[in-house]
Amino acid sequence: MTELLIKNGFVFDPLNGINGEKMDIAIKDGKIVASVSDQNAKKIDATGLTVMPGAVDVHTHIAGGEVNTGRMIRPEDHVKDVVRKTAITRSGTGYSIPSTFVTGYRYSKMGYTTVMNPSMAPLGAKHTHEELNDIPLLDKATFPLLGDWWFVLENLQKGDLEGCARHVAWIMETTKGYAIKIVNPGGLESWGFGRNVHSIDDVVPNFDITPREIVCGLAKVNKMLNLPHTIHLHTNNLGIPGNYVTTLETMKALESVPNDGKPICHITHVQFSSFAGDNWGNMKSAAEEISRYINNHNHMTFDMGQIIFTDTTTMTADGPFEFTLYQLSGHKWVNSDVETETSGGIIPMHYKRKSAVNATQWSIGLELALLVKDPWKIFMTTDHPNAGPFFAYPKIIAWLTSKKARMATLAKCHKKAQKKSLLPSINRELSLYELAIMTRAGQSKALGLKGKGHLGVGADADVAIYNINPETLDITQKYKTARKAFDSAAYTIKDGKIVVKDGEVVQNVDGRTMWLDVKTREQLKVDEEMKRKFKEYWTVEYENYPVFDHYVKVPEAITVKADV
Ligand SMILES: [Zn+2]
Repeated sequence: MTELLIKNGFVFDPLNGINGEKMDIAIKDGKIVASVSDQNAKKIDATGLTVMPGAVDVHTHIAGGEVNTGRMIRPEDHVKDVVRKTAITRSGTGYSIPSTFVTGYRYSKMGYTTVMNPSMAPLGAKHTHEELNDIPLLDKATFPLLGDWWFVLENLQKGDLEGCARHVAWIMETTKGYAIKIVNPGGLESWGFGRNVHSIDDVVPNFDITPREIVCGLAKVNKMLNLPHTIHLHTNNLGIPGNYVTTLETMKALESVPNDGKPICHITHVQFSSFAGDNWGNMKSAAEEISRYINNHNHMTFDMGQIIFTDTTTMTADGPFEFTLYQLSGHKWVNSDVETETSGGIIPMHYKRKSAVNATQWSIGLELALLVKDPWKIFMTTDHPNAGPFFAYPKIIAWLTSKKARMATLAKCHKKAQKKSLLPSINRELSLYELAIMTRAGQSKALGLKGKGHLGVGADADVAIYNINPETLDITQKYKTARKAFDSAAYTIKDGKIVVKDGEVVQNVDGRTMWLDVKTREQLKVDEEMKRKFKEYWTVEYENYPVFDHYVKVPEAITVKADV
């Protein structure tokens, strides 16, 4: 029996409405409890420190085919960031695509305890889970790419939502997945023929279906299956000037799906989907248009996809978009088509303050986060590593909480971007409470993670403690001090164990991999059908495909009962 008592910290726990109150947090056997005995418990004196639930990342590419291929085509990325072993941690490499162990250490050092790998080709599921198994200190889950999977397209085309739902349930169990990921719906199947879709009403070749029908169909299927998270969507025309129109049309199309006033879709890295203008010369922010829509509707959540000025690596299932990036940049690239399922591409990218386009993108991400009034609707991400590496999060925190910090960066940006930026007109500075929503509570709620993102009794004992005294430190002015504190947590506690102290990993524990065991009425029938279909549709045998239970090092199956 292990007991831990965190004493006298300033607690920010938005899911329980706690806003900086001085209080104790008690932990027993890996869970938050009402109290522990003062005598037996190990104590952490958190006087003058900020206590939050462990941070949660809703969208970060940390494992699987794209990530590993990215590592292979970019040796220059690792040689500049070699990580030595310590008595506790293993050696590894960064920078933008860190090795598995380093990924765990660097997240944990910032107070993160749960991360979502949002983009898994089902055919690559075994590899993805092998890498997730290797990432220490974090609970994880992974989202299979299903927006262009033939069984989704075929069933939706026939109007058979139940059939589609049963196949989605099958693949969730078979790949040990957690949520439905949709990337450039219809565009990835088109890419198999060197084509793309350019609006939500373009027809996908060989399948008489449109992106609108795929997105709305899967949002309905998601509800039929009672999945904890919504559909997780990378919109059509991502990264193209003028694409905010497509984003607005997509959000409006989703109004047709019954939603009970609750989110039914998460649009990821919305910065990349909020461009106005019609070419790269006149590209500008559509943050006002997009945030106005978000402020007036409740059926969606979002994450930022914030640009960081650094050398990074883009990787996405959006093969046609990566081809466009290749044409723009001329950089080395990888592109692939995954039979019956998805596509993918990887290109190095260096975002520069002196590029008018990059600096405008940087501004758009922050404008969106600050113009959306409700922090429960938009979460902090960089779409790691697409818009920048995750370890830059403390910089984003500084920009969100301090106008001084963001104006200092804007002053170094391309003059054209400075002139177009909405940031000088935005005075909002997020409070620690709002920040706790955007970095853990909101993400956890959107993901349907009941035991995470809060410090209520029964929650997982995942806690982050930062060296910030809200009574004496004005983070709007001393943003560099705050940035340092968020970069190196005073303590990170995972499942009740102290794993980080003063920014250093002091103990190694394995995180769990959460996956959905979705129970449908015709599970066996679907399995029999898929065994037959493998001969027709795939180049691999059925027997080689499923991720069996023992492939997952520390599995946490979440049972979901569906009425189909
Ligand atoms: Zn992504």
